[in-house]
Amino acid sequence: MTHFKTLDDLGDISGKRALVRVDLNVPMADGAVTDDTRLRATLPTVTELADRGAIVLLLAHFGRPNGVQRPDMSLSLVTRAYGEVLGRPVRFIEDCQGEGAQAAVATMGPSDIGILENTRFHPGEEKNDPALATAMAELGDFYVNDAFSAAHRAHASTEGITHLLPSYAGRAMEKELNALEAALGNPERPVAAVVGGAKVSTKLDVLQNLVAKVDHLIIGGGMANTFLAARGIDVGKSLCEHDLKDTALAILDAADRANCTVHLPYDVVVAKEFAANPPSLRIVNVHEVAADEMILDVGPAAVEALADALKTCRTLVWNGPLGAFETVPFDRATVQLAQTAAALTQGGSLVSVAGGGDTVAALNHAGVADDFTFVSTAGGAFLEWMEGKELPGVAALER
Ligand code: ADP
Ligand code: MG
Repeated sequence: MTHFKTLDDLGDISGKRALVRVDLNVPMADGAVTDDTRLRATLPTVTELADRGAIVLLLAHFGRPNGVQRPDMSLSLVTRAYGEVLGRPVRFIEDCQGEGAQAAVATMGPSDIGILENTRFHPGEEKNDPALATAMAELGDFYVNDAFSAAHRAHASTEGITHLLPSYAGRAMEKELNALEAALGNPERPVAAVVGGAKVSTKLDVLQNLVAKVDHLIIGGGMANTFLAARGIDVGKSLCEHDLKDTALAILDAADRANCTVHLPYDVVVAKEFAANPPSLRIVNVHEVAADEMILDVGPAAVEALADALKTCRTLVWNGPLGAFETVPFDRATVQLAQTAAALTQGGSLVSVAGGGDTVAALNHAGVADDFTFVSTAGGAFLEWMEGKELPGVAALER
């Protein structure tokens, strides 16, 4: 059970200075923000704090300046876009610590909102230097972390500062932690996990953690090929990590011991060339893959069986597409299983939580991201959580 303080635990904060760690690390092209998802994610916390009369000071990193000041990685470049998304004036403060920043903050009043300069302009940020954390903490009366996506790093603005100021989870962080707790911390059973994507090697820790925790492990994507090969199936020219066969067998053994049912595809979509709608496309039993063919998606019979398995489950956690979904028709299994999960979620029988860069893209492609219980855009932090690791930024809030 997770325990952390939220904005509900704050008393009267009128005129108090809130240091709020957010994720403003948005993609940009030609000076414009190309995807403002992360900016919008901060709105519930920032508007609530401002409406309650706090002086709101946003702490964030932007790019990888590696401890030096880089004008092309200044958060001043994001300030105007942020103000537009927020619909309120936002000022930019040229440092995240020190006398200049203190002087700027001293001129601010209740409900004012400011963005502090890129925390990573200081080498102490990524080193979690207590001196930097102390200098940042001097700007605020309390600290709010609303950046789950940065919580897998013990940095001065995500971990160090929590030792110096009363610390709270923001609304986005709270929502994410509650969703993750419902999915793997203390889930309703049976629990299913879908693990797909390209390679076993990038998700070994995820697989090892999940076999001990879930009732059904659905393996798809390129990584399923490694498991099929480990079981003696000829996967032809498929993407396959042959050197990881023993590891794959060990994971299957661990699943057996933990009473976790592993689902591998028994029919697959194959082609001789990796292209959209290739003429060589076939749907075959896994035992019938030819030497010059590649497995590029889970087959329709297997997807139907997976959908039936999901209907018996109460909880689903999903990371990784079932096939090479960027190329038609190898998106089909992913789209169909995602639509089944979405329908079960909307019908009230399933709690569904998904995350991962390509997974989010695949769910958007399937048109169901809004129908899942929760879709995490946190990337690295989401994967580390699926690996069962403690996230320092989260642990700091739970202390
Ligand atoms: P995520 O970013 O959600 O964690 P991954 O990065 O692990 O997901 O995997 C996504 C990639 O896996 C996609 O680019 C997809 O094309 C690829 N992939 C899925 N199935 C296959 C397959 N059978 N063969 C080759 N690549 C695949
Ligand atoms: Mg990826």
